[in-house]
Amino acid sequence: MTDPLPLGATIGILGGGQLGRMLSVAAARLGFRSHIFEPGANPPAGHVADAVTTAGYDDATALHAFAQACDVVTFEFENVPTDALDLIERQVPIRPGREALRISQDRLTEKNFLQDLGLSVAPFADVPDAKAMAAAVDQIGAPSILKTRRFGYDGKGQARLRDPKDADGAYAQIQGAPAVLEGFVDFSHEVSVIAARSVSGDVACFDPGENVHRDGILHTTTVPARLNTAQRTDAVLMAGRILNALDYVGVLGVELFVTSQGLIVNEIAPRVHNSGHWTQNGCTVDQFEQHIRAVAGWPLGDGSRYADVTMENLIGDDMDRVPALAAERDLALHLYGKAETKPGRKMGHVNRIIR
Ligand code: AMP
Repeated sequence: MTDPLPLGATIGILGGGQLGRMLSVAAARLGFRSHIFEPGANPPAGHVADAVTTAGYDDATALHAFAQACDVVTFEFENVPTDALDLIERQVPIRPGREALRISQDRLTEKNFLQDLGLSVAPFADVPDAKAMAAAVDQIGAPSILKTRRFGYDGKGQARLRDPKDADGAYAQIQGAPAVLEGFVDFSHEVSVIAARSVSGDVACFDPGENVHRDGILHTTTVPARLNTAQRTDAVLMAGRILNALDYVGVLGVELFVTSQGLIVNEIAPRVHNSGHWTQNGCTVDQFEQHIRAVAGWPLGDGSRYADVTMENLIGDDMDRVPALAAERDLALHLYGKAETKPGRKMGHVNRIIR
């Protein structure tokens, strides 16, 4: 499919969380239908989508019917099982493509890919098993962070080494999963670039945002980020290089550490990203619409920023603050409709316009 999707076409989304929900809303706003595929019951995206398939990623019959009902398929998380993608791809295009998923599903593959592109990453060593840990600690030293190669998010699957003698404890914490040991980067702050690429290869980046984490989870993103002109240009060029190398279609998040030696890539996410939620109230076209436009084969929209914004995540009991937040001026509430509040669970976010 190279022609733009016509109005009324159906965009399939693998995953029914808040990102799928906000993608569905953006799809509806552009006149498309959305179809969510999600194993869990009552997914947040299901409340706003046109159709929901509730089935596991190993259910070939359900995947087949889902693919048949869609004109293009995208995803809201990077750990979609490969077999499910194989099955879908035989029937309908998946955007972004498989290569971006293959690379970002595995921290080691991702780091090698970024390094081969000439981008800086934290020093790292492969830790395929317990035997490799001692050599990795000799090479990287401490402080450092042991991260599982796969399935890590929001600081999960990570263990810190303050001292080389923490090695055994850290390895026990990740329960024998293949991992990488990463040197601790002495950064002044963290930023991210939300970048988009269209089917025809056009690239557009939103202004970099500055991110603050709490307990490994994103707490706030503020735009503009504290970056000088050279750093800002570098950040955008780095994101563009990654998009082009992957022949990427859609929105991609690039997380960067700002250091006195330049920008270091922490990780990439082949999807819309929590640190891009500020675009909903700071730009004419937000990251969700930009992603839908790209996967639909439409031209990218104008993502230039018209306001300074701080996005704050509402996590767990932060939901108790909703009545007070709803009364604040210059604040947009975005709630995900999750049935149950749990500690550490992302329940919503707010965008505060800074005047
Ligand atoms: P990640 O899951 O890799 O995004 O890591 C979550 C957070 O841990 C990052 O946003 C940083 O705040 C911190 N972090 C991760 N890796 C490093 C590193 N190599 N050096 C310093 N801080 C790190």
